[in-house]
Amino acid sequence: MDDDFEPIALDQIANVILSASTKEAYHASVAWFEQLGFRAIMTESSHETTATWLQLFSSTATIHDVALKIVLSPSAQVKLATSSKMDWRIVPALATITTNTLEAIEDHFTSIHWAYQRYTIPSKDPNGLDDCTAIYVHDPLNNLFIFTDKPNPFESRSRTQTTQDKAPMSTLLKRRSTFQPFLPGFGHRRRKIAILTSGGDAPGMNAAVRAVVRAAITRGCDAYAVHEGYQGLVDGGDMIRKMNWDDVQGYLTTGGTVIGTARCKAFRERSGRLQAAKNMVKEGIDALIVCGGDGSLTGADLFRSEWPSLLVELVENEEITQDDADEYAHLNIVGLVGSIDNDMSSTDITIGAVTCLHRICECIDSISSTASSHSRAFVVEVMGRHCGWLALMAGIATGADFIFIPERPPWGEDWQDRMCAEIKKHRDLGKRKTIVIVCEGAIDSNLEPITAKGLMDLLTDRLHLDTRMTILGHVQRGGKPCAFDRNLATMQGIEAVEAVLSSSPDIPSPMIGMNENKITRTELMEAVALTGEVAKAISRKDFVGAMDLRDPAFNQQYDQFLALTLSAPNVGKKPQQSLRIAIINVGAPACGMNAAVRAAVRYARNLGHVPLGINNGFPGLVAGQVKEMEWMDVDGWMSQGGSELGTNRDQPSLDLGMVSYQLQKFNIHSLLLIGGFEAYTACLEMYNARHLYPAFCMPMVHIPATISNNVPGTEYSLGCDTSLNAIMEACDALKQSATASRKRVFVVEVHGGKSGFLAVMSGLAVGATSVYIPEEGVNLIRLQKDVTHLCQRYSQDAEGKSHGRVIIRSEAASKTYTTDIISAIIKEEGHQQFDSRTATLGHIQQGNSPSPLDRVRAVRLAVCAVDFLLSHACDISSSASTTSTGTGPDVYNKDPDSIAVAGIHGSSVTFTSVEALLKDTDLKNRKPKQSWWMDYKRAVHLLARRTDLV
Ligand code: ATP
Repeated sequence: MDDDFEPIALDQIANVILSASTKEAYHASVAWFEQLGFRAIMTESSHETTATWLQLFSSTATIHDVALKIVLSPSAQVKLATSSKMDWRIVPALATITTNTLEAIEDHFTSIHWAYQRYTIPSKDPNGLDDCTAIYVHDPLNNLFIFTDKPNPFESRSRTQTTQDKAPMSTLLKRRSTFQPFLPGFGHRRRKIAILTSGGDAPGMNAAVRAVVRAAITRGCDAYAVHEGYQGLVDGGDMIRKMNWDDVQGYLTTGGTVIGTARCKAFRERSGRLQAAKNMVKEGIDALIVCGGDGSLTGADLFRSEWPSLLVELVENEEITQDDADEYAHLNIVGLVGSIDNDMSSTDITIGAVTCLHRICECIDSISSTASSHSRAFVVEVMGRHCGWLALMAGIATGADFIFIPERPPWGEDWQDRMCAEIKKHRDLGKRKTIVIVCEGAIDSNLEPITAKGLMDLLTDRLHLDTRMTILGHVQRGGKPCAFDRNLATMQGIEAVEAVLSSSPDIPSPMIGMNENKITRTELMEAVALTGEVAKAISRKDFVGAMDLRDPAFNQQYDQFLALTLSAPNVGKKPQQSLRIAIINVGAPACGMNAAVRAAVRYARNLGHVPLGINNGFPGLVAGQVKEMEWMDVDGWMSQGGSELGTNRDQPSLDLGMVSYQLQKFNIHSLLLIGGFEAYTACLEMYNARHLYPAFCMPMVHIPATISNNVPGTEYSLGCDTSLNAIMEACDALKQSATASRKRVFVVEVHGGKSGFLAVMSGLAVGATSVYIPEEGVNLIRLQKDVTHLCQRYSQDAEGKSHGRVIIRSEAASKTYTTDIISAIIKEEGHQQFDSRTATLGHIQQGNSPSPLDRVRAVRLAVCAVDFLLSHACDISSSASTTSTGTGPDVYNKDPDSIAVAGIHGSSVTFTSVEALLKDTDLKNRKPKQSWWMDYKRAVHLLARRTDLV
């Protein structure tokens, strides 16, 4: 709340006590008054009482301070809502509040769709100058309040006319433009939002349910879960259950869907949908959020389009009244895509697909070691039906020898010959294992299925390889969701509630997706129709069209997979100019570094260039530790964490002259740096020294690789996803321990330097109570709020049952409030109501084996980076007469664009020169000036019921 906000005073009343009978109503009321500028000054929390004192401070003598006390009292009588059709002037009001910002208050209620009535009381002034306006409004407990611009309608002086009392409206206006922590009513009744999960289960569905339930409650709505998908809607009764805040505790870590899913035949028939409509009206539910695949979302849209006719039929059958039909005339439907296949159009990724990829990669990594041991071949079948996303990404992430996907069948009638030739080449080079991945829906160009069994027989018969077949099956769906899916589902769940609240009958049902790294809303029906087009394109053998219908990166990544194999079109061809590309790791190790080196080495080799590995960073270069790298030198690097080349934080300034000398001595034409912020500053140092050392005039590219994700010019760096998963695993274990110990809070310290990325994203993934980040710092007020919140939450836990809680603190959040101090304060202030311990995760956060996302990103960035180096070197060579410095190879050039950072922006890979990035970089704090992920921090606090921090 802004300190300068002071528009309201309760007229002639010292204080008012409001009683809430449920926790939800209590919190909703506190939030409602906080939105109007009240400040929570004290919370009483004990076994007997839970109450919040709210005060509105006045800065002028003419308006009094106002105090309200909201008490949680289960025995309190629940007030019934007053009909919006009544004139509320005849209803007894609890209090009249005088304000000089009545317009802002009215705007506020309008913007949040909160029902109110406005009346003007005429004055004796013939010009109406002294007319009094009054806004009649019910708080969430159904108490009637009157807001007026005059304390007494018969008083002649209006407060709005005085300059003394004028106070800015900034609070209300500002809040409207940001997330509204709470609200609205629908006409005169509370909105009831239901969620169901349908179709095949997908990891992350629970996170979506949790987010929907909590976001709905925070926004003043009632949340419902429909159990067993559409079957629950058809059956009604106990299958539709009201959800409270704590009902979704522990959902984040759980795989599958707790509320159940089913494939429901009845809902495919109109009679089933009629029954479902009746149950919804009976329960008073007017919004349905469906989390499922394309089938479930098709059903959802059909349900909405039929809704008016279903109501007519129900009235005709006398199953509902006409009043009911009028009241529930409009049904909101919002789709969330929960599907492991990632087969839905209009979204880059679906809930569950990345976790499924984790499971596949874990399995194939395990298979790889036994395959290597016995020199075997494995054919692995993965899920995906008509969509090859899982097979393609798994192929890239595990360095498979061959993949089969439905959208791009192997070309030509002789594909078996080519596959065998390719695998033989790998074997001849010394590979001891062969991995072939086949999507369950894979086909050849005649639409004939390609099966795992067929491939196994082929490898056995033709190549005489000891070949085994593994159908991964349902193991792929199982297990707890990875960090990416938890965060995706959480952000989409919150957005789904927002979409419900902003919906109107004329807006088509939205589907919540993710495009270009942003949560988006698209038209549900359009997305479903587009999804169907892929299968149609495949059935008419339009494979180019099918590939184009996939997300923008899909085509590129398929080509990149091929470019890394020995059957790539350029393998063996000599390029016009063979370039020597040196690769160096700089900074702390990060998972994905090795995968990027592997991809760069193989891609460069396949194109006929010469990759060179520099060992041990810049000190290694100074010492001349440089060697050419062959195709097989990087075998097995994809799944290895750390840095096989060796890495450290030293900069070229260690010995600029020697660095330059060695680059020239080894005849290096371009440099690929893979590392963290140190790699960026290394590039800057060499860029700034170009006028002194011609060798630094070669093209260079930096692939960001650091768990802190603090390199400018990219949304994600390699290693940060693996790290998030490592932190998540550790916090899940800590939370479990804290829950078992009862009433324990863990303060967990995470890495990140001056960037709060890891703290925020892991906080969201583990359901942290609070996160402390360097961008905000820590102070006493904040600690006080956190302690108050913890006292309140622990007092609300059921007798003998208590939930473990986690607070995440970024290592550089504060010099004074260290992890130990924060924990000690929490413990002391908890007065034995709860205990606190610390956990410093340290280097465990680097993870072990890179996550699939880090591997896939590494390959993508490495291939694009090599292309960047080649195009710059070749461009420069071809115009050497005008641009060359004349003191070195033709690739030498001082063009600022020739030293760049390779970044991931949405679904694209971009290159920005290190010089251009300077304006976006906070060099002192070693991070970008803007942090795109700050929105996620609000979500952490929102879902931890921290309306005081949102
Ligand atoms: P997955 O991708 O995991 O298979 P899905 O949502 O596509 O998920 P489906 O079995 O196709 O799975 O659909 C789930 C449920 O949605 C069905 O059992 C049915 O109740 C409902 N549904 C699907 N299609 C329709 C439709 N055209 N009309 C009405 N309901 C449908």
